[in-house]
Order: sequence, then C-alpha cells, then structure tokens
Amino acid sequence: MTPFSEFAELCRALEASRGRLDKQHLVATFLTRVHADEVAPAVAFLTGRPLPASDPRGLGVRGLPAAPEASAAAPLTLADVADAFAAVADASGPGARHRRESRLAALAARASALEREIVARIIGGEMRTGISAGGVLGAIGEMAGADPEAVRRAALFLGDISAVAVLARAQGAAGLTRVAPRLFVPLSPMLAETGTDFSELLVAHGGRTALEYKYDGARVQVHGDGERVAIWTRRLSDVTASLPDVVGLVRRELRGAPLILDGEVVALAQTGRPLPFQELMRRFRRVHDVESAVARIPVAIHFFDCLLVEGRSLIDAPYAERWEALVRVTAGRHLAEREIVETAAAAQAFLDRALTAGHEGVIAKDLRSPYAPGGRGKRWFKLKVAETVDCVIVAADRGSGRRAGWLSNYHLAVRDAEGFAEVGKTFKGLSDREFAEMTERLRRLAVADDGYTVRVRPEVVVEVEYNEIQKSPTYPSGLALRFARIARLRDDKTPGQSTTLSELRALYERQFTTKGRDGIPTDAPSRASAAPSRPS
Ligand code: AMP
Repeated sequence: MTPFSEFAELCRALEASRGRLDKQHLVATFLTRVHADEVAPAVAFLTGRPLPASDPRGLGVRGLPAAPEASAAAPLTLADVADAFAAVADASGPGARHRRESRLAALAARASALEREIVARIIGGEMRTGISAGGVLGAIGEMAGADPEAVRRAALFLGDISAVAVLARAQGAAGLTRVAPRLFVPLSPMLAETGTDFSELLVAHGGRTALEYKYDGARVQVHGDGERVAIWTRRLSDVTASLPDVVGLVRRELRGAPLILDGEVVALAQTGRPLPFQELMRRFRRVHDVESAVARIPVAIHFFDCLLVEGRSLIDAPYAERWEALVRVTAGRHLAEREIVETAAAAQAFLDRALTAGHEGVIAKDLRSPYAPGGRGKRWFKLKVAETVDCVIVAADRGSGRRAGWLSNYHLAVRDAEGFAEVGKTFKGLSDREFAEMTERLRRLAVADDGYTVRVRPEVVVEVEYNEIQKSPTYPSGLALRFARIARLRDDKTPGQSTTLSELRALYERQFTTKGRDGIPTDAPSRASAAPSRPS
C-alpha cells in the first residue's frame, strides 16, 4: 500500500506548482505509482471527496476531531484513510455520531500534522491544490496515453472520475474507448438543441425524423434488475424514494432486465391530463408521507429510450434500434407518443396534436443517431411554441461579473387597477449591446435607487416569453412567469397597451384547458370574461 504521506506531499507539490500541465503531470505520475487498489480513493481525495462520486453516502461529520501528535504506530496508508472514511459513512443508528468521531480521532492520532491537514481538507471538500476535476481527468488521460475526448466520454458514461481512473489503470487507453453504461451508475442524459424549422431539421436528419411529444415533466433515468430499481433525475439526484409507483411499474411490467431506460415523468390530474410542472416538484420535494403524495399527485411515465437491455449496451446502436428494444421491453406501454414523419406538413400536424393535448412541443430525433450522454447536438431538436405577454419594466437590479456596470435583471410587471403589478424578473434575452442601451435608458427613467435595485418610471414595454404561469406566494399579484425571457423590445407599444393582470389570470386559467388542474384554488375571473390580447 502507499504511504498517505506521499499523497500529502503530492498535494503540497500541487499547491506549489503553477502551470496546469505541471499539475497534471504530477498527478499522472502519482496515479501510475500508487497501489492499484488505491487509485479510486486517491482520485476521490484529489477532487475533495472522502468517497468516490458514485457512492451515495456522506460522512455526516463537520471536520476532523483534534488529536495529539502522531504516535509511533505504523505509518498511515492511503487505504487506511479510505477504510476509515468508509467506516464513518457506514455508521448509523443510535450512537452513530460518537462512533464516527472516535473512528476519525483514531485516524487523526496516527497522522502527522501535514497528513492531518490534508485529511481535514478532504472532509471539508476543498483541497486548495488548484487542480480541478477536469485537470484530474487530464492526468488520467496522460497516465493511460489516451485521447482526452475518450477520457471525457468515459467520465460521462461512468459518472465517476474514480471509476475512470481505475479502468484506465487496469485496461489502458483501449479500455477507456470500450466503456459502456453500468447498471446502477447513472449517466448524463442526452440533450436537445433548440430548433425552429421543420424543413431544416428534416434535412439534418436525412429526410425522416422521429417526432415525440415533449412532456413538461422531469427527466428520469431508470435502472432495473429484478427487484432492484433506481431512478435518477437529469441532474443525477436519486429520486427512487419519491416514485414508489414508478418503481412498482418497472418491477411488474418491464421485461429484458438488467436494463436502463430514459424517459419523462409527468404529474397527472384526476382527468388524466398533465398537471403543471410545479405540481410534480411537490412530489419530488416530499420526504415524509410519500404514500399520501402518491395518491394525491399520481404520475405517468413516458419512456423514450433504451440504453441497456439484458445487460447489453445499446448506446452506440441507432435510435431506430433502441426504440425497437424499448417497445419489446415495455410491450408498447408507457411510451412517449411518437410518429415518424417525412414532410414539414406532417410534422406541423403532429406538433398541433401535441399542443392540443397539453404538452410543450415536440422533440425531433435522428433515427440514425447513437445515444450521446451529456451531449447537445443536432441529433435531437426541441420545438416549442412559446407563449408571450407584454410587460413593463418597473425596476432593474445591478449586474455582477460579466454584467457589472449594467442594469441587467429586469423586474417585469403587468397593468392592474393600482398601476403595475410585478409578475417576474429576467436577465435573459438581450444582447450585450441591448443591455448597454437598456441600462442608459433605464437610468434616465430612474426614480429611486437603493444601491442594488433602481426603480424606474414604467415606460419600457418588452415582449416576454415564458414557459408557464404559476401561482406565486411572493408577488402581491399572485402570479409569476416561469422561465421568463425577453423576446423583443416593444417600442411600438405604450405601457397602457401592455398585458393586464386580468388577462394574465385568464391565460393562467387557460393553461388548464390543456393541462389538468389539481383543485388549486383561484380567484381568477371566468374564462369567458377576458379575452387576452395576443401579441402580433
Ligand atoms: P429542455 O429542458 O427545454 O432543454 O428540453 C429537453 C428536456 O425535454 C429533456 O431533458 C427532457 O426532460 C424533456 N423531454 C420531454 N419529452 C421528451 C422526449 N420525448 N424526448 C426527450 N426529452 C424529452
């Protein structure tokens, strides 16, 4: 095994070295030398993690307890430190805190001052060595003589730098290029680029494309092997416990395990229509009393991809083939609504159907394309029809970082009886030049300034795109625009021609003619009373 003092010296050398490549080289040399069983913890420690990234456990401690100077016991090894962290993470139940602390105190008692400092940094999650996770990946590539792109790809598949390093050390560059998804290790989902034109994307996809409903829910990756099922979100957080109904469905209804499927869950109203996104999030946030949430907010799952079936990776198979596997696995149930189209007219008809059914839009997928974890590219396009309203800017916050010097976060309001009612904020949609111009313009309209927010006379009208209108507990108007973004300046409109609060309420209500409703109380006027003005 490798003395922990060597790891501590490495950290010190990294701190002292300046160049990115120098640091990378130091780490590569260390990873070549370290005992094979210690590669995983060494890499985890270098990235400020006591446990490898794929280990869902935490240590449950704040820091390293104080201890007397190192005793004459055998020198600490990297494996000793890893074992101690694993034991601490394992401790649970009554007295766990005490057992954790005494395990760490025993570790500290065997460590030199420098080693103790390094152990404390690992626990604190900050190594201060100046090498990032990307730098460590670079070092793994250097050690294995592998192409940086292959290393990056392996990291996306394995979701854990330690696992990449272990593979690189054991199988070299060739092993990294053969990497496949692993069961119960979530991989970054494939993403879609924004598209605008069906004819263009049909060309990009070779004349045919698979269109699917774009469900407004949460992306989930489902891993299943018999009774064992795990579900992760797009950001790779484990939501298995929030979705016992989906877990049950996977156990009962799917064939072809071990498998990995990709899909979207949506919350459903009693009518079977999709509920707004906000409702689904309630279900995910629920930690206690999951059962009553399951009954109150039922969900539906729509699978659209199959990455592993019967333990075999389909990652590099074309989408057409992955879909066939998905149909076998699910027997055609719980799938995304889908149609293969060859003309823009057929695509438009499918989009209309999706919108009428209460969904956000469609996703167009190239039938020839492999699954690209973490990739956004021309193989998947999303097409949405954005709703817009005309808002008046009533205040702006000062920007920071790249936007320092600008008024860059705009408070958006609609008209109401008392004047203007705020319904959201956005810093999205303007170009740098437009930010600069808007800043000038708003400064001339300023009526108050608290050093952070400048309040302005309500004169500038902007057309604002949004994804959904939500009930808001914070705005007195009671409504908020989700994902607001300035689509264009509407200098052709006066503030008096902007959208009114009652129109916005009507739009909020109208969402439920396509989306389901969960008995959310509303004081909105009846749907017929206010016909919202649609922007030209
Ligand atoms: P966006 O979040 O706007 O970038 O759109 C991409 C997201 O749409 C994905 O991450 C999924 O959560 C979601 N989505 C909904 N339906 C589908 C579908 N049929 N195929 C792929 N993604 C979908």
